[in-house]
Amino acid sequence: MSRSVLVTGGNRGIGLAIARAFADAGDKVAITYRSGEPPAGFLAVKCDITEPEEVEQAYKEIEEKHGTVEVLVANAGVTRDQLLMRMTEEDFSDVLETNLTGTFRVVKRANRGMLRARKGRVVLISSVVGLMGSAGQANYAASKAGLVGFARSLARELGSRNITVNVVAPGFVDTDMTRALNDDQRENIVKQVPLARYAQPEEIAASVRFLASDEAAYITGAVIPVDGGLGMGH
Ligand code: NDP
Repeated sequence: MSRSVLVTGGNRGIGLAIARAFADAGDKVAITYRSGEPPAGFLAVKCDITEPEEVEQAYKEIEEKHGTVEVLVANAGVTRDQLLMRMTEEDFSDVLETNLTGTFRVVKRANRGMLRARKGRVVLISSVVGLMGSAGQANYAASKAGLVGFARSLARELGSRNITVNVVAPGFVDTDMTRALNDDQRENIVKQVPLARYAQPEEIAASVRFLASDEAAYITGAVIPVDGGLGMGH
């Protein structure tokens, strides 16, 4: 059956791979984008998740065209790496505002329709770094760890309404975000990964799609690592 799916930040990178995976399976997929030309084949809604009115407007448009959102993938995220000594209030709060508060905002709005429908699937994109920590990424790691507590609280709150809330924690994925690293940094990362390579965005998308499938109906509050073995045990 074709479901109404929303992927935030579905215009590029991991989000785009996730959007494609759902569309290929026959779902009606909406994506958010902030600027430029969004990719074709989806209902693209302009939405910055740090702006409550834009989130509300995006949901109205999606509900009008695709119906209530049944599957939400909160994928939009940013980094602002800096050692603690040099990390400004803004570096910290901007990352938290997008990765954690922005996710709260889109999940809260989706929850309204899911409660009414008495079903729903929420998948949050965290990171291995949220579990292991990462020097120079205290803001990002804190935001990604926060998503785990957030998801697990909601899993308890919403389970009886047939709404599952899960987290996917990718390792290093070949996207614009990691292409910003220099060659030395990229080489060092690969040395630590048991599978000795970066993930392709499609490899993250496969787990997300599974968590939203009927086969995963009894999985909630889980953190699924898709990290090539990098975070084993965390
Ligand atoms: P990219 O930098 O390639 O893409 C980030 C996406 O998030 C873009 O679509 C961007 O939209 C969107 N976005 C950022 N801020 C906002 C905002 N305020 N409102 C709406 N959309 C926003 O990143 P990736 O594809 O690599 O990452 C996707 C997710 O996966 C992120 O949450 C990231 O933290 C996580 N992740 C990535 C890993 C990696 O190695 N790449 C590893 C682990 C987790 P726009 O095009 O408008 O900028």
